[in-house]
Parts: sequence; structure tokens; C-alpha cells
Amino acid sequence: MSDERWNELNRRIVNCRQCPDLIEYIQDVGRRKVRRFRDWQYWARPVPNFGDPQGRLAIIGLAPGAHGANRTGRMFTGDDSGRWLYRALYETGFASQPESSALDDGMTLHDCFITAAIHCAPPKNKPTRTHLDHCRPYLADTLRIAGRVQVYLCLGRIAFDALRKVWQLPPMPFGHLREHPLENGRRVITSYHPSRQNTQTGRLRWDDWIAVFQRCRQLLDGE
Ligand code: SF4
Repeated sequence: MSDERWNELNRRIVNCRQCPDLIEYIQDVGRRKVRRFRDWQYWARPVPNFGDPQGRLAIIGLAPGAHGANRTGRMFTGDDSGRWLYRALYETGFASQPESSALDDGMTLHDCFITAAIHCAPPKNKPTRTHLDHCRPYLADTLRIAGRVQVYLCLGRIAFDALRKVWQLPPMPFGHLREHPLENGRRVITSYHPSRQNTQTGRLRWDDWIAVFQRCRQLLDGE
């Protein structure tokens, strides 16, 4: 039943047109492309949630990348952030393969799904407050449908704020590998986003990144 509701939610997301400026932008990106992807037919639509709706790990990202998920149609697929994310998921047993390159690459997630604060790529990766407000009901619906989540991993402050707003939680400190307990043993973990801005400047190092997923694994396995 939750799979049906999950698929229906994903259809609503893909067909959403609530932010006309973003829709125009992602379609324009899909027409212009970049040289290295000029042979691609860009997805150029809102990007749906990806993974197992029964999963106990929910990963909340910022938004699709203009030439990553907006090109491939799958969250975190086809860009540098995704390379870090899927490698870490694979190494900790949440993903079937270490790289995610296209919709038909065979990738599956185990006990885990990926969603985002907004589902359309925003210019310069910077959503406006209006975009976030428009898209928040999808995050709320996602978390309502996915009823087995034990760990909510927020990649970056904007994702964390989006989650807090869904639950109407007060301001809480954000930091890398910071934990916030919820009722029933569930918890929120915050992490720096694996954007190039963070990984190429050394703000986020691989050891600190993989530690986040090792901690998620440890919590879910009850160690
Ligand atoms: S950002 Fe969200 S609310 Fe806005 S058009 Fe895309 S899917 Fe719809």
C-alpha cells in the first residue's frame, strides 16, 4: 500500500508546475546542455524521490543538480555530489553499486531512500524561500508515507531547516555529524553537503563523510 502511495507521490512531483520560474529554468538547462553532455536528452522535469519507501534511513538533500539529476532524472545521479553519496552508501551497505550514472544503470538502494528540500534544480543551487515553501508539502508527504524511518540524515543546513519546518521544530544547531534525538529512539543527523564547494576545498574530507554513514549503519544495526 505504501508503495502505491509512494509511486503516486512521485508522479505528482514529476508533474508539478508550481514554480513556473524553476520549470522554465530546468527546461532551458535541458535545451542548452553543456558540451560534455550534448548527446544527452535531459530529464528537465522535477526529480522524484528515489529508493525504498520502507527504508529506515531517509536522506534529505538540497535539490537536483542542473547537469546531474536534472539531466539523468534520479536524485544525486551524474554529478560530483552523487559520486560521494553513492560511494558512501555502497561502502556501508545501503546501495547496490558504488556509482550512479543513469536511470538504467541498475542501481538499487537497500533500507534507504533519497529525497530533497526541493525537487527542481534552482539557479546556482540556491532555492528561494518561495521555492522551499512550495515544495515542502512533498517532503511532508514523503516522510508521512515512509513510515519506518529511524534515521533522518540532512545533507546541509537548508535540508535540515526544511525538515524542521515540516515538523515545526524550533531552531537547533547545525553541524557535521551532529545528532538530535527524537521520540521513539529515532534521530536526526546533520552533515555537510557533499557539494564540490565543500569537497574540493577540504571543508568536507572523505573520512568525515564516510563516518556519517558508518554512524547511520551503527544506529540501524543497534550496535
Ligand atoms: S520545486 Fe517543487 S513545488 Fe516547485 S515546481 Fe519543482 S516540484 Fe513543484
